[in-house]
Amino acid sequence: MAATPPSGPRRPPPGPPPGPPPGPPPKLLARTVPASGQDTTASPQTPPARRSPPPFAEHDEAYEIVSQVGEGTYGQVYKASAERTGSLVALKKIRMEAVKEGFPVTSMREIKLLQSLRHENVIRLQEIMTSRAGSVYMVFEYMEHDLNGVLVHPEVTFTDAHRKSLASQLLQGLAYLHRRAVLHRDLKGSNLLLNNAGTLKIADFGLARTYYKRHRGDYTNRVVTLWYRPPELLLGATQYGPEVDTWGAGCLFLELFTRQPLFQGHDEIHQLHVITQLLGPLTTNAWPSVETLPWFELMRMQDERNTSDSDTPDAWAAIEAHLSPAAVALARGLLTYDPAQRWTAAQALESPYFTTEEPRAEPPAAVLAALRGEWHEMQSKRARKKARHNAT
Ligand code: AMP
Repeated sequence: MAATPPSGPRRPPPGPPPGPPPGPPPKLLARTVPASGQDTTASPQTPPARRSPPPFAEHDEAYEIVSQVGEGTYGQVYKASAERTGSLVALKKIRMEAVKEGFPVTSMREIKLLQSLRHENVIRLQEIMTSRAGSVYMVFEYMEHDLNGVLVHPEVTFTDAHRKSLASQLLQGLAYLHRRAVLHRDLKGSNLLLNNAGTLKIADFGLARTYYKRHRGDYTNRVVTLWYRPPELLLGATQYGPEVDTWGAGCLFLELFTRQPLFQGHDEIHQLHVITQLLGPLTTNAWPSVETLPWFELMRMQDERNTSDSDTPDAWAAIEAHLSPAAVALARGLLTYDPAQRWTAAQALESPYFTTEEPRAEPPAAVLAALRGEWHEMQSKRARKKARHNAT
């Protein structure tokens, strides 16, 4: 089964902004967040001597590229080591090609947001750097794996205690973001990074934005990768809040058990169809305002036309069989159709699954540290491709 959603999130097109971008320009060569005593910004006047293998020529010599670990929608991600300290970082290249003048507005928004965040379960932006060739990179702490990469790895077996820890870390990161009025809007396995200590960090803030807590803002609904997109966005809602992220957290919580994405639709209508097959029909009983959403009628008609399989097996019962009652309650709470009734991240953390039910949460440090290699979505895709090639 494919493990990559067919339709990615709809990111706002990269620039070009007419003239200089609004607000103060980012300080590209200066450290943007003080990094604990490490000076990783090389002086352009005194390039360090080249070693073997040579530093990646295009870059500022402060970092030596080790390998590529990711291919983001907006640019490549590299593993690199700081020349002076040897500490590992991830360099995320900012795509500048589409921008004729100035700095991409979307990247600037991402950087500003990341600079304002500091939490154990949210990736930390260490600094911004430029290469001599003019490329700009975001420098992050390095994480050995992402959830997508490890869930498809045959040697990874998580216990219930590990799953509880991962779910708790995800929800703690999310609760923090929502307290700070930040919507992530692209939760998925490849954006949940893991290190060998078993720590999970939410990454990729390319689609994130702040929201108004006091009233519902009007935002684009063309966000969130299809398989993790909540029903209100699929039905065209443009006034939404943190519930769009907690739906994704519910999908990811169950994915820890099923090891594959829960709702694998081909398009928006099919996505709603697979959701309702598992969780039941969208009714005004469960979700009083559902009929007011812009695409409700259209979706209902199309779904009826496209599907004849009304007697699908009870897939939910099959999933429930692997879950404790408290885990079922958590999944149900996060995957509530009505956004107004859907559990918040903070509420989920107070549920019996985390507070009273055994086993206690335990970070999967031993499992991850014992893995040979590092497993990001990119490596697992490559491994699958190689296995397919060898099999033919
Ligand atoms: P992004 O563009 O942020 O979605 O990153 C694309 C991929 O690069 C992710 O799915 C990860 O596998 C990898 N990646 C991103 N950030 C890091 C990091 N800080 N450490 C290690 N790998 C990363």
